[in-house]
Amino acid sequence: MPAPLIRDKNTETEISEIFSSLQGEGPYLGVRQIFVRFGRCNMHCGYCDELEKMKEENFSVWSLSGLLAEIDKMEKEKGAHHSVSLTGGEPLFYAQFLKNFLPKLKERGWVTYLETNGTLPAALEGVLKWTDIIAMDLKPSSSTGDRGFKREHKEFLKMAKKKDLFVKVVVTPATTESDIRECIALTEQAGGKIPFIFQPLSDPFGINQKALSLIEGSFFALAQQTLADVRVIPQMHKIWGVR
Ligand code: SF4
Repeated sequence: MPAPLIRDKNTETEISEIFSSLQGEGPYLGVRQIFVRFGRCNMHCGYCDELEKMKEENFSVWSLSGLLAEIDKMEKEKGAHHSVSLTGGEPLFYAQFLKNFLPKLKERGWVTYLETNGTLPAALEGVLKWTDIIAMDLKPSSSTGDRGFKREHKEFLKMAKKKDLFVKVVVTPATTESDIRECIALTEQAGGKIPFIFQPLSDPFGINQKALSLIEGSFFALAQQTLADVRVIPQMHKIWGVR
C-alpha cells in the first residue's frame, strides 16, 4: 500500500491510532486519557513495542478538524478524561501540525500531555506554550542501540523544565552504568527535583528480571545520591492487559 500523503503539514497529520485508555507509565499512572498516536519516529530503539504501528501502511491521514471532532466524540461516549496524550512514534516529528492543533485543544480546555523521546528541542520550542505535562524519555545508547542524544537532551531539558516535567529511562539488560550516570547528570543540571523514573524493560514474560536487578543493584542508589525524586515504575498497561 502506498504511503499516505500529507498535502498540508499545518492541517493534516499521520496517525496510527486514537483510543481511550489508562495511562500505563510514569507518575500519572492510572489516569484516563485520550491517546493520539502519531505515526513516524526519528529514532530506532531496539526495544520499541510500536514498530508495527509505525509502518506507513498502518497510518491514516487525519485533518485537524477531524481529529478535534473525534476527541470530542470520545469524551462524550467514554466519559471524562484527565488529558489528551500525544504519543507515537514521536509527536514532535509533526511539530508543524502541533503548532496548529494544540492551541485548539487548549481553547477547548484540554490538558495536553506530551510523550516524547526528548531529542527534537527545536520542535519542542515551537509548541511549548501549549504543552502542560511532558513525559520525556532519556535515551541512553546502551538501552536503545541507537546513537546517544546528550546534546539534544540537554537543550530539551532546559525548555521542558518550565512545564510539569518528569523523565524516564528504559533500562534493559544491556544498559551501562556510565550511561545511567550521564542521564542522572543531565537531570541534575536541569534541576535535581525533576521526577526521575526507572522503567525496567517489559518482555513477554513480564518485567525483565535482569533489568530490574541492575536498577536495584546500583542504578537506583546512584540516582538517589543527587536527585530528590527517584522511582521505579514498570509499564503497567501490559500487566493490566489494556492498550
Ligand atoms: S523513540 Fe519511542 S517510538 Fe521511537 S523508536 Fe524509540 S521507543 Fe519506538
